[in-house]
Amino acid sequence: MKFSNAFIYTQKESPKEAVVPSHKYLVKGGFIIQVASGIYNFLPLGNRVLKKIETIIKEELDSSGCQEVCLGFVTPCDLWEKSGRFSKYGKELLRFKDRKENCFVLGPTHEEMMVELVKNRVNSYKQLPLNLYQIHIKFRDEARPRFGLLRGREFVMKDGYSFHKDEKDMQKEYSLMEETYKKIFTRLGLDFRVVDADVGAIGGSGSKEFMVLAETGEDEIAICSKCSYAANLETAKRSKRDKPVEPPEFSGFTKFYTPGVKTIEELSSFFHLHPYYFLKAIVKMAKFADEKRPVVFFVRGDEELQETKAQNAIGADELLEISEDEIRSAGLVPGFIGPFDLNVEYIIDIDLKGEKGLICGANLEDYHLIDCDLSAIEGKFADIAAVKKGDACPVCGAELDIKKGIEVGHIFQLGTRYSEPLEAGFLDEEGRFRPFVMGTYGIGVSRLVAAIIEQSHDERGCIWPLAVAPYQVDIVVSNIKDDQQREFALTIYDELIKAGVEAILDDREERFGFKMKDFELIGFPYAIIVGKGLQEGKVELVERSTLKRLELPKESLIEEILKRLS
Ligand code: ATP
Ligand code: MG
Repeated sequence: MKFSNAFIYTQKESPKEAVVPSHKYLVKGGFIIQVASGIYNFLPLGNRVLKKIETIIKEELDSSGCQEVCLGFVTPCDLWEKSGRFSKYGKELLRFKDRKENCFVLGPTHEEMMVELVKNRVNSYKQLPLNLYQIHIKFRDEARPRFGLLRGREFVMKDGYSFHKDEKDMQKEYSLMEETYKKIFTRLGLDFRVVDADVGAIGGSGSKEFMVLAETGEDEIAICSKCSYAANLETAKRSKRDKPVEPPEFSGFTKFYTPGVKTIEELSSFFHLHPYYFLKAIVKMAKFADEKRPVVFFVRGDEELQETKAQNAIGADELLEISEDEIRSAGLVPGFIGPFDLNVEYIIDIDLKGEKGLICGANLEDYHLIDCDLSAIEGKFADIAAVKKGDACPVCGAELDIKKGIEVGHIFQLGTRYSEPLEAGFLDEEGRFRPFVMGTYGIGVSRLVAAIIEQSHDERGCIWPLAVAPYQVDIVVSNIKDDQQREFALTIYDELIKAGVEAILDDREERFGFKMKDFELIGFPYAIIVGKGLQEGKVELVERSTLKRLELPKESLIEEILKRLS
């Protein structure tokens, strides 16, 4: 490709709303252009990267025995009604009607459609197992699309679904997919971790996420410093905490006057006691299928609530913020809420189970209870606190660290969650009808374009790993009006193309510095500079990742490049 003909438009300014490097550089470098909030056009550079990622994914999946299909993006509502997700999915699911008043949704994921595809075509255990996937557009009307390709509304996903005769066979495939995903993300040059993930409302027996480690990640993961334990904070566990200081000595359970003392910080200094020994109340409005009601969650004073765990603990669809008025009208006294004589549903963090000598609100303005004993309370405990740095690993007891990650893949043991309601199954060895046991496997393909840059950039722009770079080598002609430079550049361009190298020739009538800035911003792995040195038979090779320059005799250039690309 010659730059002078290419549809490549780099720009100086980054979008106003861009706060993460990948968003800035992908727009500035001319990879993508925003169409509407969370919707992007891919330009040739971006599209080349996307297709390369897709090819790597496809090669690995096909070699693990998966088969590619392509399902309709628009899916009929009745399938969603049968699975029960039509009402459950919320506003992310974009619903609409066609001219004949038929109801459809833009597919945010394709469990229903895939089950429908296999239903009545696979009828016998002899046709199992089967693993079908597609690499296709998805639409989710996300509440807050942001960070460019990291959280779009329209995005490309690889979604795969496997069908099995029993749990054991499904688990075998699940492990195979874990291994296959590891190969994919390794080929993409990513530093990633496989972590235990929240199975949420769908239930199921297991789920793992693939997290690209990056400061800008929206997910938090707990990673053990010694063993292989790693989990999304939404599901991370820990061993019971050690006391940070010796417990207080109280003279008995009693009400204590604490005028205007509300926050944990205020209480801690009022009682000269570590926050560990206080109960912190967090009130949320829990949304269920048919009602909304306030729920109180209690954690230790030095801890935070983990909302996904809290939501799962009460089986709510969502936890919403609650206003002070709503709190008061539920009969709660903000700043003085405690579990004793509480008339609102509540849950206490499991680390507090059986604990004594605590301080909590008395459900009475300006009063707290001291020397509280939780050992008589039953059926109210669940793991709802967020694991913190320094907590003990639930497997080996070593310290846990907290890192940020970008979820680029998710594998899930689904069981019969969809096959049962959609009545999709097969006849087993004894001729009995059984629903398919399923697994589901996703990869955020367009999110990966951005995730790679989050891990691989500097203050000048993108640094593409060779495997997915839009072009491998950028031949920069310093002065395009110089016949010798232009002709030599054309010769090596032709030679590289013949050798199978993806080369781009920057033959634009622009200043040398401008072209080098584009090279750095776009992030091709190598640049060859054809400049004044050519008169002495020399050219320069620049490596994007290090910006190191190497002067070479022009005769050895091709050999040097081929060596580096192999
Ligand atoms: P998240 O927690 O990030 O919202 P999810 O768990 O809802 O994602 P899945 O249903 O597991 O997403 O979808 C499979 C994969 O699709 C995810 O692992 C992620 O990489 C990608 N993905 C999900 N939502 C988006 C989005 N809005 N934009 C880009 N990629 C996405
Ligand atoms: Mg997920």
